[in-house]
Amino acid sequence: MAVQAQDEPLVRSLADLPLPERVAGAIKRLKLRRVIDVLNHFPRAYNVRAKIAELKSGDTATIVGEVTSANNKASKKRGFKLTEVVITDGSGSIKAVFFQQPWLTGRYKPGVRVKMSGPVDYAYGSWTIKPTIHEFAPPMEETTAPALEPEYPLSEGLANDEIAALIARHMALAPTIPDPLPKVLSESLRLMPLDKAYAAIHGPTSRPQLAAAQLSLKYREFFLIQCGLRLRQRSEEGDAALKIDVTDELRTRAIKYFPFEFTGAQKRVSAELERDMTRPGRMHRLIQGDVGSGKTAVALYASLLMIEHGFQAAFMAPTEVLARQHYASLTRYLGKTKVRIALLTGGMKKSERDELLDDLARGRTHVIIGTHALIEDDVKFRRLGLCVIDEQHKFGVNQRADLRRKGDRPHVLAMSATPIPRTLSLTLYGGLDVSVIDELPPGRKPVLTDWVHRRREAACYEKIRAELKAGGRAYFIYPLVEGSEAVEAKSAVEYAEHLKNEIFKEFRVGLVHGQMPSEEKASVMERFRKGEIDILAATVVVEVGVDVPEANIMVIENAERFGLAQIHQLRGRIGRGARQSFLYLFGEPHTQDAIKRLEIICQTTDGFRIAEEDLKMRGFGDFAGTRQSGIPKLHAGDFERDLDVLARARKDAAVHALTTDESLLRRCLELHFGREFRLLDV
Ligand code: ADP
Ligand code: MG
Repeated sequence: MAVQAQDEPLVRSLADLPLPERVAGAIKRLKLRRVIDVLNHFPRAYNVRAKIAELKSGDTATIVGEVTSANNKASKKRGFKLTEVVITDGSGSIKAVFFQQPWLTGRYKPGVRVKMSGPVDYAYGSWTIKPTIHEFAPPMEETTAPALEPEYPLSEGLANDEIAALIARHMALAPTIPDPLPKVLSESLRLMPLDKAYAAIHGPTSRPQLAAAQLSLKYREFFLIQCGLRLRQRSEEGDAALKIDVTDELRTRAIKYFPFEFTGAQKRVSAELERDMTRPGRMHRLIQGDVGSGKTAVALYASLLMIEHGFQAAFMAPTEVLARQHYASLTRYLGKTKVRIALLTGGMKKSERDELLDDLARGRTHVIIGTHALIEDDVKFRRLGLCVIDEQHKFGVNQRADLRRKGDRPHVLAMSATPIPRTLSLTLYGGLDVSVIDELPPGRKPVLTDWVHRRREAACYEKIRAELKAGGRAYFIYPLVEGSEAVEAKSAVEYAEHLKNEIFKEFRVGLVHGQMPSEEKASVMERFRKGEIDILAATVVVEVGVDVPEANIMVIENAERFGLAQIHQLRGRIGRGARQSFLYLFGEPHTQDAIKRLEIICQTTDGFRIAEEDLKMRGFGDFAGTRQSGIPKLHAGDFERDLDVLARARKDAAVHALTTDESLLRRCLELHFGREFRLLDV
């Protein structure tokens, strides 16, 4: 790992600079921490610097001039205040219009020099501008301002010229930014040199120059990411420490542990895992598949192969409910065998815990299951060979790494029920290992999904009543109330009371929510599983992996507040048994998007289709912004718009990654993406 010397100017912390508190705060909100981050803070747009007389209607322009008048007016729309500031630059005049900012008349008094950027329009004989940036202009401005005025992503309290000045102050460091690109490549592609590209992107003199700078930076960015991915693969090649043999005899023996036959998809993925484990090098694979598609079963199969060769396996789950669940199902498969499984929970007595940890350290326990409690210091293995990480995106990068460190570079198998659209995973994970289980175990009946309008609710309750009488069980899910677990819990509590006392008096109603102690949560879940409770009212805590095959009904309240992926995950809780299952979506969506979401959920149960729709609706930016996507935030490029540049960089990286200096690549990755890049780790 290339560690940066603390005194290197590019990685100097911005906190060390003498900045006004207001600016420092805004910079922090923009997640700019080091000098390099400021240089990588690229403009989101460029405004054409123009004389008013040269403007074209529809331009986005920057003009500099002097205020001639500033007045507040009442708008036609009642209660709105308009401020009109008229500016002249000698060639003509233009009117800037502001909404609801009457104090601006005090700031832009006649005679004051200003600079304004925004879309301009000509109508009824006069020019208007809707300023996206407006600030005081120094007298010399006219001679020094660039032809294309960069417009930066801003944050409250930070003016465009302030961030521009901060960048300019560090521009002299641009030539010290290391270039990851081999000379042969930059020459054959005729890319603008890195330092020139930095100078041009922050202060272009022409459109073609700007375009060349953008291409140069985008290409380098994609090249670096692609090399990073390959670097990781390279570091895992050749190590034979974990290599095992899988004979037909062993395969048959391992398969016998399962009371069912693997589906075609499970067999295919098992073979992929076997291939990883029987050749030198470390497995690093992600299994994607809908809830209930049998990922855990496959992971256990892989564990059994490792255990046969004297290794141990660890299953890490994001919640205790889920850890218990895994423990229950693994015990079901392996209870009567010699394979020893243990569950590490937070609430264990010290003596119990000591004994468990001792067994683990001595290798008497073969599989340990737990939450992130598994990464605590005192948890030691004798020979950890495989880490299984369920719902991997729920863990931080460091937590995942900490678990790996419990062994000597063990295999890693991550599982995720949040499908990444295939198109996207191919592009992004390029050379990475992703296995997909796209088939449900036989006998599952697809969940029938219905969007229930208010006036049909009563009829729906009757239907549910009939199902419950026939031995079914139901979840009632309440939406997450943003920002307040307490409010959320309260609404679930109230709702549970309502169900118990008004609607389903004759049935037993239980409640789980995020604020309950985990022991209590587990005990309510257990009673629901055993059938001592018919109706489980819950907040989204049940989202993650509960397995109650008898549960065949789910009602989601205020379904319009849930995202597509989330409803899909929730739906995976039912449809696990022989009984036909029903999902009822209650809600009154008010936006087109919300209506569309509910329609899609009613139309399909295919997780990948839903992921594609989700991507389409939310747009890539939003998708990439979520932690689960595991995609680093790009500075110059755009995964959606620059697919051609990405494709080219990927091809070139395949050829050049192996010959490019590894420490240089690592240094560049750390510099541009900081810790974020490691998110691309499965
Ligand atoms: P996931 O981890 O993808 O949520 P699991 O491996 O936990 O899925 O499987 C979900 C349920 O389906 C479990 O009860 C499991 O025993 C059962 N199951 C898994 N694979 C099969 C199969 N091939 N045939 C029948 N049942 C299966
Ligand atoms: Mg699961």
